[in-house]
Amino acid sequence: MEFAAKNSETAWLRFQKTNCLYTSYGNYSIFVPEVMKVTQVLAEATKPIISFEILPPTKGKSIESIYNHLDPLMEFGPSFINVTYHRAEQVYKKRPDGSFERVEIRKRPGTVGICAAIMNKYKVEAIPHLICGGFSKEETENALIDLHFLGIKNVLALRGDAAANEKFFTPHPHGHRYAEDLVQQIISLNNGKYLEEDIMDGVKTDFCIGVAGYPEKHFEAPNADIDIYYLKRKLDLGADYVTTQMFFNNEHYYQFLKRCDANDVKVPIIPGLKPLTSKRQLSMIPSIFNVEVPVDLCKEMLKAKNESDCEKVGEEWLLMQCRDLLKNKVPVLHFYTLGKPQVVYNVLKQLF
Ligand code: FAD
Repeated sequence: MEFAAKNSETAWLRFQKTNCLYTSYGNYSIFVPEVMKVTQVLAEATKPIISFEILPPTKGKSIESIYNHLDPLMEFGPSFINVTYHRAEQVYKKRPDGSFERVEIRKRPGTVGICAAIMNKYKVEAIPHLICGGFSKEETENALIDLHFLGIKNVLALRGDAAANEKFFTPHPHGHRYAEDLVQQIISLNNGKYLEEDIMDGVKTDFCIGVAGYPEKHFEAPNADIDIYYLKRKLDLGADYVTTQMFFNNEHYYQFLKRCDANDVKVPIIPGLKPLTSKRQLSMIPSIFNVEVPVDLCKEMLKAKNESDCEKVGEEWLLMQCRDLLKNKVPVLHFYTLGKPQVVYNVLKQLF
């Protein structure tokens, strides 16, 4: 049984109403959330929608830290919440005899569990990120099977970065080199094709696949055109939409849209937005993410006298970016909330 959505409703209310089905179990009718694909959410949206991206807590921390982060933001009715994936790191641990051994530690485990918890608690789509780095194809297949069994229908397929002890990305010996290979594997599973060829009539998964795009080009790509060429390959293989790397100058996003159009990229391109909230980030963000921080933003940040002034500068800049994007009819605003949900909250409060 579906309810009609009114234009005036928030995306959250709309999600609650349109995304639920009554299912009968014996004499009982229970409310069961119907999982929606990102592409479906976007196609049906009557106004710009909101989404967030969060990091799993570091090992040893409670999931309450995720809830504390998300609870206030749920007021804005996000249509989906992405959860990042973090590859294991090699670290050296001292043995009692003074020698060192190399061990693998995953500092932020829990992506799949957090997605299930988010869907269960907030009744909102959760999108796990999947990475090639550090995983064999078989481990990836098993993870996809888990996600399918959990009722998760959206994934963001990524290559991942080089391991901390490597200069360049090295694929797992039995894994994927590029995100396009991961997209191919997910599409195969959507067609019921498993790695073990003797699995006949395998159940078909139904994943909606997002991939990463770079308005300022991926740092390894020799130029923006070649980067778009490889982006298009991911889409031609069957990926459904693109989420962009953060940008602080909307012009980069608009130019990217133009390049995508010129290269016949027709899928939704979700702008990724992050508040810049400290002086340290002025050098850290460009070096990690290879994005430009505009001169005016740098100047304002450098004038800030304390932490709260810095956050105010970041908030105002993000607000200005969002207003401009909405004026230019973006269908969705995707926020990398990471450590600063309050700044994103303040921006959303002024926007909606
Ligand atoms: P790819 O699409 O494989 O591209 C990598 C590079 O190779 C590009 O330069 C591309 O032009 C080139 N290329 C692609 N295909 C080919 C080919 N067939 N032949 C030759 N060159 C090719 N990282 C994480 O570890 N965890 C996360 O959760 C995470 N989330 C992210 C979310 C978003 C929205 C974005 C934008 C990035 C995220 N990242 C994450 C970072 C991402 O993993 C890195 O940017 C990584 O370096 C590239 O990933 P990709 O999926 O874009 O790779």
